[in-house]
This record gives sequence, C-alpha cells and structure tokens, in this order.
Amino acid sequence: MYLDQEVMSCMSMRITKEIRILRKDMKHIIIITGAGKGIGKAVAIDFAKASKREPDFEPHLILVSRTLGDLETVATQCRSCGATAEVFQADIANMSQIDQLVSGTLERHGAIDCLINNAGVGRFKPFTEVTEEDYEYTMATNLKGTFFLTQKVFPVMEKKRSGHIFFITSIAAETAFKSSSLYSMSKFGQKGFLEAIRLYAKSCNVRITNVMPGAVHTPMWGEVPDEMKAVMMIPEDISSPLVNAYLLPQRTSVEELVLRPVSGDLNE
Ligand code: NAP
Repeated sequence: MYLDQEVMSCMSMRITKEIRILRKDMKHIIIITGAGKGIGKAVAIDFAKASKREPDFEPHLILVSRTLGDLETVATQCRSCGATAEVFQADIANMSQIDQLVSGTLERHGAIDCLINNAGVGRFKPFTEVTEEDYEYTMATNLKGTFFLTQKVFPVMEKKRSGHIFFITSIAAETAFKSSSLYSMSKFGQKGFLEAIRLYAKSCNVRITNVMPGAVHTPMWGEVPDEMKAVMMIPEDISSPLVNAYLLPQRTSVEELVLRPVSGDLNE
C-alpha cells in the first residue's frame, strides 16, 4: 500500500513536532571519540547539521582524538553549521586522560547526554605475524579505552535517568575475516561489553546502540584501489542513521544498526 503525499507529510510533521517537544530547550552535551577523521568526523558534522534542521536541538560537541590539528579543523566545520564545539586532545588508552575528559566535561557543562565510542584502531595481518606490541596497542584503544571511558560516563546518565551511548563496533564484531584476528577479537569484545551493560542501562532509561558497519572508505584503510573504493560505503552513510537514531523519542532505542556495502562484505 502506498501512502499519499499529504498523509506522509502530516506524519513527518507529527514526528518532527514530537522530537521538538521532547527535547525543547535542551543543550545536548555529546562526546565523540576519534572525531578527527573518518566516521567520527562525519558524526560530528552530521550532529552539527541537525542543529540547523531542528531549531530546538542544540548540540554541544566535545571532539576527542590524539591529533589536535584534525580536531580544530572539524570543530571549525561544526561551528560553521551552527553547533558549538570544543576540542579535547586525549588518548583514550590513557586512564588519566579519560579522567580529565570526563571530569572537565562535568565541571564545564554539568552533564553528558551522549557518548559516541568511535575511536578505534586496526592492524590487519595474518595471525602468525601479530606481535605483542600490535596486541597491546589494539586492545588498549578498542577494549580498555572504550571500557573505562564508558564506565566513567555511565553513572552520570544513570543518575539523570537519561542518555545514549553508541559503540561503533564493526561487522567484524560477529563475522571473522582471515587477516582480522586481533581486530575481530577486540570488536567481538566490544559487542560482548555493550550487550552486558545494556542489561543495566535498560533499567535507568539509558539507550545503548551497537553500530556495525562493513567497509567504509576512511583513513583507516590507507590507500585503496579505485575498484575497491567504488563499492565501499562513505562515512556519511554511517553518521546519518546514527544521528537519526539519537533524535528519536527517548522511549525508543535503536539497539543495532547493521550497515553493509550493497554488494556485501569485502574479502568475503
Ligand atoms: P580512522 O579514519 O582511522 O579514524 C579513527 C579516529 O580515531 C581518528 O580520529 C583517530 O585519531 C582516533 N583514535 C584512534 N585511536 C585513538 C585513541 N587511542 N584515542 C583517541 N582517539 C583515537 O577510522 P574509521 O574508519 O573512521 O573508524 C572509526 C571506528 O569505526 C573504529 O572503531 C573502527 O574500528 C570502526 N569501523 C570502521 C570501519 C571502516 O571500514 N572504516 C568499518 C567498521 C567499523 P588520532 O589517531 O589522531 O588519535
């Protein structure tokens, strides 16, 4: 059955109005890790653009990564779209830097409404060639950093009985690829962690979303041949549904977003 245009535009006006009523006069404090490049950068810019579409949605973006220059470029782009943004140079693998990020945010803003656990690293090589340094480096960001940042942010949301935590895991969180032993191990771990904390989160109105992308063309891949680039997704393919999931009424939690190139996974 096709809905005619009038009915559809009424429905969309109702949904938009509902979002506005639920979020009226709220400044949204949003921390995005890995916001300097790739998917995290697209998420920051899409949140900023949403502030133009939704007059009552006022995102304040806290952009985190290890490279200050990248963050400042993204912050300028976000501000030009009408959002407020600040940068925080930090390595999420470092516990004292995580502490400073969370305590500084609370001192300045008194709240954290959304955490995007996006920062992640990947070293792709055959299992037999993985070194101890590769192992420590990957786990320090993907598992330890994600775990302890979430652990510090969660009580703030629990107390307020509202909040949203996104985890950018991967298709590799449930499908194994030959050269991704270490990466997959970390991503399967992230999925286990977020599913466990969702059991707490449900009882205090906190939404937990697992975003599972397949191949997205970002700096993580380095140079890729044109024929591969042609079939990969782009960061905005991930950021757009993520921002829409956040803007849904609080009663609704998008628990998983699975996004793949239409032709399927690379290296299948
Ligand atoms: P990317 O282009 O390499 O960007 C990663 C961002 O994370 C950069 O801004 C990087 O900045 C930051 N970062 C890395 N380690 C960090 C740390 N320890 N502390 C703070 N910031 C850190 O990667 P991407 O492709 O956008 O990937 C983003 C997330 O999506 C990752 O978790 C990745 O596993 C996941 N993912 C990617 C794909 C894909 O195909 N691209 C597919 C599925 C899932 P600095 O290096 O300056 O710190």
